[in-house]
Amino acid sequence: MAAVPALSYSSYHTYLECPLRWKYLYVDRLPETPRGYFSFGRVIHSTLEEFVRPLVVPSARRVGGSESQRTLDEWEPSRPGPSPGARMSLDELLAVYDRLWTGEGYLSPEDEARYRGLGRELLRRFYDRFVREHPVPVSVEEHLETRWDGIPVHGYIDRIDRTPKGGLEVVDYKTSRDLSDEDARESDQLSLYQILVERNYAEPVEGLTLYHLRSQTPLRVPPRDPEVLASLHVRLGSVFDGIQAGAFEPTPGRQCARCDFRAICPEFKSVPPLDEARLRLLVDRFETLRSDEHRLNEDLKRTAEELHRAAEELGVHRIRGTRSVALRRRDEAWQYSLDPIRPLLDETGLAERVASGKPEDVRRLVRDATVDPEIRRKVSETGARTVTWFWDLEEADRGG
Ligand code: SF4
Repeated sequence: MAAVPALSYSSYHTYLECPLRWKYLYVDRLPETPRGYFSFGRVIHSTLEEFVRPLVVPSARRVGGSESQRTLDEWEPSRPGPSPGARMSLDELLAVYDRLWTGEGYLSPEDEARYRGLGRELLRRFYDRFVREHPVPVSVEEHLETRWDGIPVHGYIDRIDRTPKGGLEVVDYKTSRDLSDEDARESDQLSLYQILVERNYAEPVEGLTLYHLRSQTPLRVPPRDPEVLASLHVRLGSVFDGIQAGAFEPTPGRQCARCDFRAICPEFKSVPPLDEARLRLLVDRFETLRSDEHRLNEDLKRTAEELHRAAEELGVHRIRGTRSVALRRRDEAWQYSLDPIRPLLDETGLAERVASGKPEDVRRLVRDATVDPEIRRKVSETGARTVTWFWDLEEADRGG
């Protein structure tokens, strides 16, 4: 069994989309083609990290390993953190942005300029809102990890803020074009972050936020219910088990359009030229046999039906051919609809014996001489018999 690395949200999501893509990225460590929107997201995140970091007022953390600690007595008592530093001016923030900017992955200079302008605008508006609302960050870009009931998980949390009630709010920045309330309500990423923060911090998580940077809209939702977290734990568990078992089958879908590994993926990889002719013949033969199989099946069905009709008309079950004798056989099945007599069965304590609904259980009851014959008759009357006829072949000399 393979050792499973701690699962991040992105690793979990990648495996769910395509296990083979997960292997290429996390086991084989194949590089991906740089893309402008990834560079853009990274630069914005790093700029905001530098902006927020001096303002962080650290919060109380759990002591030692997080998994074994369960009670309030085990929290490290809150201590006042160091005073926050000075906030950058907008010009300083934009200077950080310029320093961190990279043109990696953009399609053209125009594409890069468009993104760069979008980033400046977005940071200006972020700055205005931040100054107006002055959130109290307790951490920024923090790496948290834990074992969640046997599953190692980790993540980098963009920001954790102190709420007015003294709890914690998890904030995840998004630079994507569109984001809805539903995204925040259903985000597995936020659920995982809630677990990571709850198991590493003393204070409770009071809110989860996807912060849509393009519109400066914080999409806030309450912390997840235990059922939602339990359902994520099950899905994480299946990913964990799949990785451990080395299950890395390709799973084609929409994600293939942006997958860099199509040239080596069995779903898209071409047959080497030297093998092409040989394999083309095999495929052609397979196609011919498939269509013969279909035609033969249809023919077989028609012939059997014709024999059945003749057998019915003549009242025979054995029909001799040149080499074989066709023997008419039957399969029968019983179905019982017990609902109409359910009250009677409940009343007489017999309901339990037919609770499985299996015909053999019902028939056993019908044959049971210790049961009142009237009840057995009523049970028997709810049954319907279905007969399916089929043909067997026997060598002619054995058939006589
Ligand atoms: S091309 Fe599609 S099926 Fe193949 S590895 Fe990539 S995502 Fe998976």
